[in-house]
Amino acid sequence: MSSDVSRGLVLVVEDEPAIAELQRLYLTRAGFSVQVVTTGEQALQAVRSLRPVAVILDVGLPGIDGVEVCRRLRDEGDATPLLFVTARDEEVDRVLGLEMGADDYLTKPFSPREMVARVKAVLRRGRPLSGGTPVDVGQVRLFPDERRVEVGGRAVEFTATEFDLLAHLMRQPGRVFSREELLSAVWGYGPVVTTRTVDVHVAQVRAKLGDALSIRTVRGVGYGVQR
Ligand code: CA
Repeated sequence: MSSDVSRGLVLVVEDEPAIAELQRLYLTRAGFSVQVVTTGEQALQAVRSLRPVAVILDVGLPGIDGVEVCRRLRDEGDATPLLFVTARDEEVDRVLGLEMGADDYLTKPFSPREMVARVKAVLRRGRPLSGGTPVDVGQVRLFPDERRVEVGGRAVEFTATEFDLLAHLMRQPGRVFSREELLSAVWGYGPVVTTRTVDVHVAQVRAKLGDALSIRTVRGVGYGVQR
C-alpha cells in the first residue's frame, strides 16, 4: 500500500543488512521514506541533519550502542520518537529500566507488519490531543493542547507516551483500566504479546507525580486514578 505523499522519513539504525532491508521494504510500502544507517555515530548525525519523524534503533550496534544513542539525543533535548529493537531479554530490561524516554520496543525476531504498526502508533502519540480544556485531578493539572503537565503547580516534563497514559487515566478518574485497554487506547495496539511496557510507563509516570496524584494498582485488573 503506497501513497504519493510520504508519511515522513523514518531512520532505521541496524547493522544486520538483511533485517535493515526488510525494514526498508515494509516501511516504504507503508508510505514512509527510509534512510538506513549501521552505526550509532551515523545515527546521531542522521537524526541531527535529516530530522526523521521516527527512529527505529537496534540496541546491539558496534561502537556507540542504541541505548547510548538515545541517551545522547535526549540529553540534547531531541524528542524524536524512538522505537528500540532488542535481541535479548537483558536488553529489554536495560531499555525499560532507563527512564530516558524510549517510546516502545520490539524484540527480534519481529514481524515487519507489527513494526509498521508500532511506528504509526508512536507517531500518533506525538500529536496534540483533542478537547483542549485543562484537566485537574488531585494536585495535577494537564493541558491537552500544549501537552503540558503541572504537578503541584510546577511544570514537569513527560514523554509523549507518559503524557498520553496520564491523560487517559485522568480523563476518567475513579475508573480502573486493564493493561489491555491502556495498550489499545494509549499505544494503539490490538492484542499483543507483552504488557510490560504498560507497567514500566506507569512506574515512570508515578515517579514524576510524587504525592500529587496516586495511580492505583488494582490487582488482576489494572490501573486508575482517584478523583
Ligand atoms: Ca545488531
